[in-house]
Amino acid sequence: MDFELSEEHRMLKDLVARFVKDQLAPLEPKVLAAEAAGQGLHIPEADRKRLDAVSRELGLWGLDAPEDVGGSNLPMVAMVGVEEELARTVTPYTLPPDSPNLKMLMATVDERQRVAYLAPYVAGETISAIGISEPGAGGDPAGMKTYAERDGDDWVINGRKIWISRAADADFTILMALTDRNRGARGGISAFLVDKGSPGFNVVRPIPMVGGAVTYEVVLEDLRVPGWKLLGTEGNGFAPMQTRLSTRRIQMAAWSVGMAQRALEMILEYAPQRVTFGVPLSERQAIQWWVADAATKIHAARLMTYDCAWKLDQGRDVRNEISMIKAFATEMAFEVVDHAMQTYGAMGMTKELPLQLMAGKLRTMRIYDGPTEIHKWVVARNLLGTRK
Ligand SMILES: Cc1cc2nc3c(=O)[nH]c(=O)nc-3n(C[C@H](O)[C@H](O)[C@H](O)COP(=O)(O)OP(=O)(O)OC[C@H]3O[C@@H](n4cnc5c(N)ncnc54)[C@H](O)[C@@H]3O)c2cc1C
Repeated sequence: MDFELSEEHRMLKDLVARFVKDQLAPLEPKVLAAEAAGQGLHIPEADRKRLDAVSRELGLWGLDAPEDVGGSNLPMVAMVGVEEELARTVTPYTLPPDSPNLKMLMATVDERQRVAYLAPYVAGETISAIGISEPGAGGDPAGMKTYAERDGDDWVINGRKIWISRAADADFTILMALTDRNRGARGGISAFLVDKGSPGFNVVRPIPMVGGAVTYEVVLEDLRVPGWKLLGTEGNGFAPMQTRLSTRRIQMAAWSVGMAQRALEMILEYAPQRVTFGVPLSERQAIQWWVADAATKIHAARLMTYDCAWKLDQGRDVRNEISMIKAFATEMAFEVVDHAMQTYGAMGMTKELPLQLMAGKLRTMRIYDGPTEIHKWVVARNLLGTRK
């Protein structure tokens, strides 16, 4: 059994680490100051263009995209290392394209959709969103009510989506809707490609959240979608959507490891310097236990994440592992970041340090793509053999 990354994947991880250190980390003070001033979590346009040029030059685009559309077709184990390194900074940069929707598109597109949607997406020319959640259906997406009705060659969609990231900016949204109310998640949910600005795709309000996140509420009013924009086959949108969610969950576990690792390093740097009552914090058992627990849990989460990614690459069923790592890694990192904030005292409460943004991000990560309790329930349900 070999626990090391291959030489090629190790070099990629190191390359991303250097990109983060040289390009993203220096932008952090600017990003934090803008966020603290109420301007939102973003990278100024000029910086983004420069980052795009540098990351493209380094060959970091389309890492896990298929080769025939310009990608490198890297396995999930390679991507875990990449995501861990990217998460070490709060500078919100994503290497194009946003991979979870990529996986869903790869599993479903036909030739026309490949050319019209997948290729420009992999080339970094477009960004995407996914609309699953509704006011009455979040953790249990099978309860969605948005309905797509056939009208000649088109589909007409009515309903309401909520908490949709990037809905206002995305060039296209993968929209999930019922096409057969009786069958629901068992053959009655389809996925549609909806272009930005389509009449009836009404982004009604932004919803600011903790951790710098913004999601949107979208009302779908007689939204007309041409027949060829149905993804995959009618009624079979749920399974590729789960593939997309699985990819995101592994990615989130890797982000958690990266964030926790940075928080631990911040404790290691600060605790020996800060003296209270004549003794450095690093000599207090309270802080030592936080350090030891953090190191142990980060190690466990990292191994679990690589194990899950490797099994996924082997084509194995990793539903249990995905739920385990999504819940374990996000909760673990939230705790480690919280301990780092506690170690830094008042400084840890400021918007000058990245810790509060990391805490806010992790707070949302404990909810989206399935709250912790649902993932634990899934694991227990699979082990116990209970259904509900
Ligand atoms: C930052 C952010 C970005 C998001 N982006 C998107 C997006 O781009 N597209 C999209 O479609 N959605 C998005 N979402 C929505 C997200 O996926 C849902 O919020 C999430 O799945 C939970 O659904 P809910 O909010 O309806 O909570 P509910 O399903 O109502 O659950 C509420 C709570 O009930 C408990 N619970 C529920 N079921 C169980 C159970 N079986 N066992 C034990 N406890 C349970 C859990 O504690 C859970 O936190 C985003 C959410 C956030 C916070």
